[in-house]
Amino acid sequence: MENRKKPNVLFIMSDDHAAHAISCYDSKINETPNLDRIAEGGMRFDNAFCTNSICAPSRAAILTGRYNHLNGVKTLGDEFDSRQQTVQKIMKDDGYQTALIGKWHLGHGGIHDPSGFDYWNIFPNQGDYHDPMMYEMGIEKTIKGYATDIITDLSIDWLDQRDKDSPFMLMLHHKAPHRPWDPDEKHKHMYEDIDIPEPETFNDDYSNRAQAAKEAKMRIDRDLTKRDVKADPPKGLTDAELKSWKYQRYIKDYLRVIASVDDNVGRILDYLDENDLAEDTIIIYTSDQGFFLGDHGWFDKRFMYEESLRMPLMIRYPRVIKPGSVTKDFALNVDFSETFLDYAGIEIPEEMQGRSLRPVLEGNTPDDWQTSMYYRYWEHLSLEHRVGAHYGVRTHDYKLIYYYGEALGSAHASDEPRTPEWELFDLNKDPYEMNNVYDDPAYAEIVKELKTELYRLKEKVQDFE
Ligand code: CA
Repeated sequence: MENRKKPNVLFIMSDDHAAHAISCYDSKINETPNLDRIAEGGMRFDNAFCTNSICAPSRAAILTGRYNHLNGVKTLGDEFDSRQQTVQKIMKDDGYQTALIGKWHLGHGGIHDPSGFDYWNIFPNQGDYHDPMMYEMGIEKTIKGYATDIITDLSIDWLDQRDKDSPFMLMLHHKAPHRPWDPDEKHKHMYEDIDIPEPETFNDDYSNRAQAAKEAKMRIDRDLTKRDVKADPPKGLTDAELKSWKYQRYIKDYLRVIASVDDNVGRILDYLDENDLAEDTIIIYTSDQGFFLGDHGWFDKRFMYEESLRMPLMIRYPRVIKPGSVTKDFALNVDFSETFLDYAGIEIPEEMQGRSLRPVLEGNTPDDWQTSMYYRYWEHLSLEHRVGAHYGVRTHDYKLIYYYGEALGSAHASDEPRTPEWELFDLNKDPYEMNNVYDDPAYAEIVKELKTELYRLKEKVQDFE
């Protein structure tokens, strides 16, 4: 690093983009040539996980490098207190030019506005796909056009006008592909003449699992609204046909919205190339969490199950990352901040709870690298999706989940107790997590070990509740 200028950081985060809808992750349902360019020129992480699979909490974890019980955003009902330490504040203090453009979704007004950014322009709330209201440095105004294009245009404008003599960190946060999946004109007819394959677990009946799976309200056949599918179904369909029809309506719009993200990521990559920035810019593509794409018969996220837990994560930095590399080493959303600080040559604050991914990126994974991760979803039976609160541990081979059955006073949660339940999945034998083996005597020793690990991690991250 010594005799070299500090790298720029371009952090592109979409919203609810599952890794299994990206072609470099072997998607069976779409192609994303521009997102693949990042992986081809850098590293793809196959085991990147969020620590709480829901929008605002994951965003807070990324900015602070701290778990939700410590950064104050455990649920969608908690707003971010921008007076706390964040990666962008530290980078800005170090001389980086910092900007946030697009989705913030951590509350706004007063102490909830973004801080630590030289420039910010966000959606005041979730944001609209068409002609969105934006909130630029405290002033609201509507911008004509399509959100994904607008965020990219604003980002390119900001990059153009920046001081070219100092490094930048740009956080470019797409609203897409979040619900309600409204495509733009350019992509609205994509996939019209084809059927998108249904996933393996499309007809999951939630047997052999905790009651929590059965209770959740995020089913394709029952819980998608007319606003989601944007049409009335044809008459005379059987229940199974209707479910398939709804899935096609849902997944095609989801993929159309992603096609626009992919085009726009291509524009940004071209901009870096044309402006001689590609070599000195660490570019990251990720999403705040994963999503169920008809998997288990669901849409949405929240559960610790794989499709929701896993984040896409591709990082390119040609100076040090070998092109086309792939890792199975664990990476967590709380690790991102420390990675940026590490590459910027800035001391990492004690209170950050992740670990810099730099050695993994450079092919020198230390022997003591994390092989287990702690997860916690707090929003017990929140009104719309009814997923019970849970925490758990995932290792390379197993996942143990504890649905503890209480709201514990969390915002956005329902005070409706449930009998606590455990789930254990053998990820090698049962990658789709269809068969809970918690009560199988053959796994008794594994359960014991995983519980020890779960409580070790819980204590390590200082989650005492
Ligand atoms: Ca999200």
